[in-house]
Order: sequence, then structure tokens, then C-alpha cells
Amino acid sequence: MARIPINIVTGGIKQDDIIIGIDLGTTNSLVAFMDKSTGLPRALADTEGYTIVPSILHHLPQGGWVVGNAAKGHLITEPQNTIYSVKRLLGRSYQDLDNHTFAYKIINDDTESLVKIQVGEKFYSPIELSAEILKELKSRAEHYLKTEVKKAVITVPAYFNDTQRQATRDAGKLAGLDVLRIVSEPTAAALAYDNDASKADGKNIAVYDLGGGTFDISILSLQNGIFEVLSTNGNTYLGGDDLDKALVNYWSELYHIQTENAYEFQELRLLAEEAKKQLSSNDSASFNYNIQNKNIALEITRQKFEELILPIIEKTIACCKNAVTDSHIKISDIAEVVMVGGSTRVPVVKQMVQKYYSSSKMMDSINPDEVVALGAAVQADILSGNRKDLLLIDVTPLSLGLETLGGLMDTLIPRNSKIPNRIGRQYTTSVDGQSGIIINVYQGERDLVEQNRKLGQVELKGIPPMPAGLPKVEVVFTLNADGILKVTASELRSGVKQEVEMTPQYGLTDAQVEQMLLDSFTHAKEDVDTRLLIEAQTSAKQLVYTTEVFLQKHGTFLNPEEITQTQNVIDELKNVYNNSDRNIIQQITEKLNETTAPFAHRVMDVAIAEAMKGKKL
Ligand code: AMP
Repeated sequence: MARIPINIVTGGIKQDDIIIGIDLGTTNSLVAFMDKSTGLPRALADTEGYTIVPSILHHLPQGGWVVGNAAKGHLITEPQNTIYSVKRLLGRSYQDLDNHTFAYKIINDDTESLVKIQVGEKFYSPIELSAEILKELKSRAEHYLKTEVKKAVITVPAYFNDTQRQATRDAGKLAGLDVLRIVSEPTAAALAYDNDASKADGKNIAVYDLGGGTFDISILSLQNGIFEVLSTNGNTYLGGDDLDKALVNYWSELYHIQTENAYEFQELRLLAEEAKKQLSSNDSASFNYNIQNKNIALEITRQKFEELILPIIEKTIACCKNAVTDSHIKISDIAEVVMVGGSTRVPVVKQMVQKYYSSSKMMDSINPDEVVALGAAVQADILSGNRKDLLLIDVTPLSLGLETLGGLMDTLIPRNSKIPNRIGRQYTTSVDGQSGIIINVYQGERDLVEQNRKLGQVELKGIPPMPAGLPKVEVVFTLNADGILKVTASELRSGVKQEVEMTPQYGLTDAQVEQMLLDSFTHAKEDVDTRLLIEAQTSAKQLVYTTEVFLQKHGTFLNPEEITQTQNVIDELKNVYNNSDRNIIQQITEKLNETTAPFAHRVMDVAIAEAMKGKKL
């Protein structure tokens, strides 16, 4: 456990502890700190004056990484060794990626475990790679501040789930940073503007964040010095890149350019991005594009560009509408709209946003690339005990609940509930004499848990035998300020109790993080195979057990031939269930299931007929 020195008079963290604010972005990352001499947050620049660190890593042939601008050039020349958009992979499984492709190698082990990235012979987790970016930012801060920096506030998108938040924390830890708080990006952006809470009280704020590859809209409310996220919406695959693509498509068609060649395509894409940036301040842009010994004079006017990108901006406005609906406030009650992300420099984006939020004041005076990091620095300052006028509240982006009978999701903390939050509910057992209960915890919006994301489980053991329905099991969900969940289950009649700090299923414990430092994941694939094999073995053994019980109890419903046939398949499965071939185990398990399925139906039909006998209409 890290020790944080507390000033016992003010309750704050000791003044001389520097806490940096970090915006760990998909495309770009930044680090900022509170400049005591001006009383204003400031983003730290490199020797050339750039505050932005591209979130790109390049693996060096001799080992180790370069991060940022130095890595960017390798995107085209060595795509397999150059990692970008790692934030999209943070805390995610392969199945979460929805078929999106990356130029580097992501391991598809067809499981729900965290993705790994293969570079050369080694496997890296997104946590380790994010840690490399954080190390770069940490060292930039140390270089500038001329002191060791050990504490940070890191921002994450408002929609990040528990696993992704935990992964961000773990990345910080790996980078040698004690992450004091994870803050939502929109909350940070609003903080950068609304420094004086006493004046801003009672205000609702929309934060419109259009970056390179993602779009987020959030509605916040500042009440009594507390920021609350009322709602969030967005699109994780919509951003400045789409504006570039719209122009690439237009040019390709107009000038009959074939862009099959990856290098030539990249060239054209970079020109389109440059044109887009120029059009933010000029009425037209033109370039010479050399391709296959031809020279093409590319041209674009701002008017034509605006026409091309209109459908993309309209998509963002549709998200804005959904966010207003979810927030349960009127659009006219939104006092300000804060502009975040490089793409909000496009004039027509500003115009359409202003048109939609017609009665809100547009806040665009702070550099939209820096505003989140600056807000993180303000939050760091609050944590240092320097600011007593502001607190932060966020909302949980996805509902949290547990599995009830039939695999249904029972939601305890609904989506968009305030964080921190605590809620309890009572449950009971479904089987006589049940002495243990497993509570499976899920996150998501679907009715069936199998379509949601499992966070973990709490096992309540040692309940004294009672008839079904008698035990009173109380389950309490406590969501802390970082959006991390603690689940407590207690059987109230017997006093049996169990509490689990819900390290999300795919997150990591401290010990595992340390292990990661030593282990280069060479065994990742084998581990996954082992887990799948154990699962297949376990379910085969369970099926053998239940089928044997079934034969004992309901053998009278079966003819002797059916009994022999079932017994044979049971024996067949017993012969293979300790086998190391998962496919064979699953095959025979399936065979036994198929053999017994009609019998189960038959028994059920008889039971229902019996039950109906005495009923009167
Ligand atoms: P971010 O992810 O917030 O750093 O946003 C980066 C995006 O902003 C990229 O798509 C850039 O092309 C875009 N961008 C940066 N500067 C400008 C500009 N002056 N005009 C239009 N888009 C810009």
C-alpha cells in the first residue's frame, strides 16, 4: 500500500508532493501541472515547444520502446512494430474489438481474456504499453519540474467501464505512478474552465469532445461545488480521421486516384489532414500530389469540404440529442458547451454545435487539445488540498447487477447513477438445503447476463440447511469514487458474510502486476488453452454426475434399452474426461446431452401432467 502524507490540519496531501495531471488519449497524450507562480494549470512542452505526445510506441530492434513523435514516423515504415490507439485495447478482450483491424498483430485466442499484442517474439499487454506512454509523460514532467514525480491524476472517457478504469490504474502503477484519482475526461475539461465554483454553481455544462478517432458528449451539472455527470453518449469510431477519409474519397474519385498501395494511400491521407487543418483558417487549400510519375494538383474549397463532412457532424449532433434526453434536463438549461479535441477547430463543427445548443455559451478559449490535461492538473491541485471549493462526482456508464435464476440480469446500480453509490437488495435460495450461493456480478444493459460482461463473483459458503426460499441473502453493491465496485453478500438469518473487492474479472491484482514486470507473456496462449480444457473437464464431470442422479431418480420413465444406451455414453465420457483433448471431451459431453434431452422432456411432461391432475378451472 502506498503511503500518502496527509496534513492533519487541512486534511490535504502535503503541499510539497507534486501531483501531475495526465490526459492519456487514444491519439495524443499530455501532462500538465498547476503552476503556482500563475495559479493556472499548464501543459508541459518538449524542447521544441510541443505539448502533445502522440500515443504511439515503436519497438526498437535492440529492445525497448520509443514513444511519441519519435515513434510516429515508423507507422508507415514498420507498422508491425509500431503501436497506436492502444487505449482502444485497454481492459478489453478480443471479442470486444468488434472486428476492428489494427496494423500490428493482436492475438486472437478466441477467449474473453485480455488482448495481447505481439511484437517480434514477445507478447505485450495494453497495460504495459500504456505504461510506456505514461513513463514518457512522467519523465517529461520530472525533466521540467526537476524533481521526482510519483503521483498522478489520470483521465479516462466517461464511458470507460470498471475493467478499463482498473487497467488505467494498473498502467499508472507499472509506470511508477501512484494514481490518486481516475477522472472522467469531460469532468476534467469542465474543471479547466470552471475554476471558480462559487460563481459557477447551479450550472449545467455540455462537453463536446471530437478527437481524432472518437466522439464523446457528456452533460454535467455543477451543484454546491460538486460536478455531477448527468449523462454520456458518443461514438468510439467517429472523429477527425473520418473527416480526412471523406476528403480522401472525394479526391480519389475526382482525380481518378487508385489508392490500393498503402504507402500512396497514407500520403494522400496526410495531405487530406493537412488540407483539413488549413481549411480551419483558410477558404481553400491546394497541394501537389505525386503518384506513379504523375503530378496531380489537388484542390478543395472550404465550402465543398463542409458539404462532404456534414453527414459526419450530423451524427455527432444525433448523439448530443440522446445525451440531452438521458440527462432529464431541458437543452435551454445548458449554460455552456465546452469544446474539446482537435477536430472542434473545424469552423462548421463549431457552427453546428452552437446551432444545436442555441442558448448555451460556447467555451473554446482554451486549446482544445490541452483542456483535458489542464483539468486533470486542476483536479490534482484539489487533491493536494489547495482547493476546498470543488469536489467531483461522476456517473457509472453501464448498469451493474447480478445473475438471477434463468440467467437473467438483475440491475442494482442503473446506468448513469452517481458515483460513489451504495445499494442493497435481498435474495433467497431456489433449492432445499442449499449451503452455498455463488453471486455472479455483471455489467451491461441486456436482460440476459450472458450478453453482458461478467465482473466477478462472490461465494457465500456455510449457510445452515434451510428449505428453499427461507434464507435471506442480502447483497450490497458499493461503487467508490474511482468507479470500482465492492460486493458484500450476507445471509441474514445465520450471519454468514462474504465481501469481495471487485477487481474486475480481467483486471489485475497487485501481485499480478508485479509478475507482469518479470514475465513477457510468452506463455499466454498455453494458459488460455489450459483454462478452456479445465472448463471442459469440469462441465463433463458435472454432466456425468447429474445424469447418474437422473437415472437413479427417474429410471422408471426409461426402457431398459435407453438406460443401457445412456450408461454407455456415461462410461464413454468417464473414459475421456481427464483427457487433454478438449474437443473430444466437448464432443462426448454433447453426445450425452443429446442422448438424455428427450428423457428430461418426458419426465417433465409427466410431472406437469401429475401436477395438473388435481387442479380445477
Ligand atoms: P485529438 O485526438 O483531440 O488530439 O484530436 C486530433 C484530431 O484533431 C485529428 O484528427 C487532427 O487532424 C484534428 N485537428 C488538429 N488540428 C486541427 C485543425 N486546425 N483543424 C481541424 N482539425 C484539426
